[in-house]
Amino acid sequence: MNRSCERMFGYGAGELAGLNVSILMPSPFREEHDGYIARYLRTGEKRVIESRREVVARRKDGTLFPAELAVSEVRLGEKRLFSGMITDISERKEREAEMRRTLSLLGATLESTADGILVVDLGGKIVSCNQKFAELWRIPAEALSDHDDNRALASAHEQLTDPEAFLAKVRDLYAHPEAESRDVLKFKDGRIFERYSKPQRIGESIVGRVWSFSDLTEQRKLEAQLRQSQKMEALGTLAGGVAHDFNNILTAIIGFSNLLQMNMEESDPRRQHLNQILAAAERATGLTQSLLAYSRNKPLNPGRVNLNEIVRKVGNFLSRLIGEDVELTITVADEALNVMADDGQIEQVLMNLATNARDAMAGEGSLIIRTGPIELDQEFVSSHGYGITGRYALVSVSDTGSGMDRQTAERIFEPFFTTKQMGRGTGLGLSIVYGIVKQHNGYINVYSEVGKGTTFNIYFPLTEVAEKEQNAVDMRHPKGGIETILHVEDSEDIRALMREVLTGAGYTVIEAVDGQDGVEKFREHREEVQLLILDVIMPRKNGKEVYDEVRAMKGDIKCIFTSGYTADIISRKGILEEGYNFVTKPLSPNALLAKVREVLDGESPPARG
Ligand code: ADP
Ligand code: MG
Repeated sequence: MNRSCERMFGYGAGELAGLNVSILMPSPFREEHDGYIARYLRTGEKRVIESRREVVARRKDGTLFPAELAVSEVRLGEKRLFSGMITDISERKEREAEMRRTLSLLGATLESTADGILVVDLGGKIVSCNQKFAELWRIPAEALSDHDDNRALASAHEQLTDPEAFLAKVRDLYAHPEAESRDVLKFKDGRIFERYSKPQRIGESIVGRVWSFSDLTEQRKLEAQLRQSQKMEALGTLAGGVAHDFNNILTAIIGFSNLLQMNMEESDPRRQHLNQILAAAERATGLTQSLLAYSRNKPLNPGRVNLNEIVRKVGNFLSRLIGEDVELTITVADEALNVMADDGQIEQVLMNLATNARDAMAGEGSLIIRTGPIELDQEFVSSHGYGITGRYALVSVSDTGSGMDRQTAERIFEPFFTTKQMGRGTGLGLSIVYGIVKQHNGYINVYSEVGKGTTFNIYFPLTEVAEKEQNAVDMRHPKGGIETILHVEDSEDIRALMREVLTGAGYTVIEAVDGQDGVEKFREHREEVQLLILDVIMPRKNGKEVYDEVRAMKGDIKCIFTSGYTADIISRKGILEEGYNFVTKPLSPNALLAKVREVLDGESPPARG
């Protein structure tokens, strides 16, 4: 026994000489050892002799360690000697175990990641890949188990929109084994992958390449939707702001023109001019209403309406709009489709869609409008990425026109997006449609194929009750009165107009220029004032704040709010609750007078307490 063997087993120098070798073995080998030698000597049956084996060895202190043992027999005349070579393999064993742990971790990682991973050697042969890789690329399992990389490449080739660029990249990377790359792959079916590739190294040398692929399709879809809705939101705010200020100006124009008209002789030749001014101002009002509609305020005049009736009613008009050579087919559902809607705006939607269809058909083709009930289920919501499940009325408008490609279809709802010549298209038609549909808590989508035609589907939530609630006021011959009105309004133009209108009808008007001023003026005149007319949005205290402070002084004061914003946006801003008297600008003098009389003659609001 040499010294290193003694050290390996923990014995001192010479300590082992003369002892049975079985002392170096753990049970049960220790007990079997002598029998084993005896049997060998008797029968020649070998177990360890002349072969290498891994065994368990026992140190002097009783601890065990893995060892590799090689025994051979030496004959010296009659004497038979056995020599053993023993190596402590603890470290090697430890490394092997470590390696197995690493490999299993690697395997588990590979299969649990959401990315498809492919490992190839320097010649491009598939070394390994995970299950996800095959799923993402829709590669049949047998192609992979054969490590048939040509087949894998061919399948990539079929699916990509630009396979040449893909292959060029692959070739380029094989020519530059040390390069890393990251790019995006587009599929014919619309999927989008991110591809990342990095060399595989062993020590310093590069032995292959690892490709990883992640499917970004969902994420991109969501991002695009978000961008789109942010853009629409921003444009809506802008359009709404412009329309609001413009409304104040229009109120003054229409109001003063009306006053002139009232005071003019029937035979006055200037009446013509005045009528022109009024007609132009009415058109401008229509435009600002459209802009307000687009900026997602509530419908100006919502009520429960049967969509079928609107579609039928507007049908006549549409057939004139689209021309004689376009065949119009209208098919409405048998059951009533009651929705909360402003019928004027729904007509506008149909008209805008029909106008576009006419343009797309260049004079010939057919336009089909259909209505029907539909249940939007979870599947619809997840495949479209929007919507609330429930019962809806579907209006679909199809034409057999030019259709459009995907890029165009993605942009059509943007304001000012048009593919038409200067002077022919404004790009506002569909953005107004979009705004109106949104306001009605509906959805719109489009299916189109170049050369075949286009279908717009619009979904409006169904309501249960029928019939539009009417609360019309007689606007033609409003009566005046002798009451005193406190008018609080920051726009100079509007104050001037209201002064004319209200004093002209016999009322006494006290004016205030902002919210704070309004409260002070009321304090001075609290005994006389019978009605407040408050602009909703004003500096130094909004209309609602003024109303609250005044009510604290005089609980049953009557009040009319005015604003260029429609009731919905104001209540959403938390300024007004429902049930208040409310008129939107621009207001015509007659409408205003009618409302004033109605409120003065009506019940007082309950005093607060
Ligand atoms: P405009 O009609 O003023 O161009 P729109 O907002 O109404 O604006 O429409 C925007 C664009 O959408 C059109 O320029 C056209 O390219 C496309 N489009 C709309 N409707 C259709 C349709 N039915 N068929 C084909 N293309 C259409
Ligand atoms: Mg249009």
